[in-house]
Amino acid sequence: MRILIISDIHANLTAFETVLEDAAKQWEYVWCLGDVVGYGPDPNESVELLKSLPHLCLAGNHDWAALGRLDIRTFNPDARKAVQWTRDTLTRDNTAYLDALPTTFVLGDYTLAHGSPREPVWEYILEPLIAALNFSHFETPYCLVGHTHQPAIYEYVSEQNEAESIQPIYRQQRQLNGRRQIINPGSVGQPRDANPEAAYAILDIETNVIEMRRVAYNIGAVQKRMRQYDLPERLIARLEHGW
Ligand code: ZN
Repeated sequence: MRILIISDIHANLTAFETVLEDAAKQWEYVWCLGDVVGYGPDPNESVELLKSLPHLCLAGNHDWAALGRLDIRTFNPDARKAVQWTRDTLTRDNTAYLDALPTTFVLGDYTLAHGSPREPVWEYILEPLIAALNFSHFETPYCLVGHTHQPAIYEYVSEQNEAESIQPIYRQQRQLNGRRQIINPGSVGQPRDANPEAAYAILDIETNVIEMRRVAYNIGAVQKRMRQYDLPERLIARLEHGW
């Protein structure tokens, strides 16, 4: 079975639809690693599109913020404004959907978490040192995470108890070879690796072949809707820079 792996849609319907078009007929099931909402202008539309697909989805920190599960007084003013707008905009049904999301999932060879297996909702795996500390917190060969909005692959080197960072090569199939790895597909709706294109991956869970991808989408259309809803300018601008 081929899985479409997506994460951090962040209420960006245009990016989400573009990913679905780009990956059309190449998958049977969706794994979504969390942060369906937050920042972007389409929280209801994004949740509803996801709900219409055969999928499982994890909870991210922004999903929890939209539910009021977090104290957002420590958020910066732009983030706080976006969270408040998201809370006010989400329908009751879509809020209930987010409220029911689990924080981790284990399926066959794969453990799934939004942030990390150690701290599923919160921890950012941004460097090999942090990745290395996480390998003792899951039992499967492979782990999939999101949260950082940066595509990444960390491979465990058991002799040294270290992790090695592997540069993702897009549109190239990679056979997972049994060495333990933590893989981040990147963000659909708000990339932060200086590349504004939507990021996702396709994984065949029978053959363990993964392909990471980027695809350009109509950023201007999303920015236009954000301005319509008076969302913070900094959040609007960052989409075109990929940070
Ligand atoms: Zn996120």
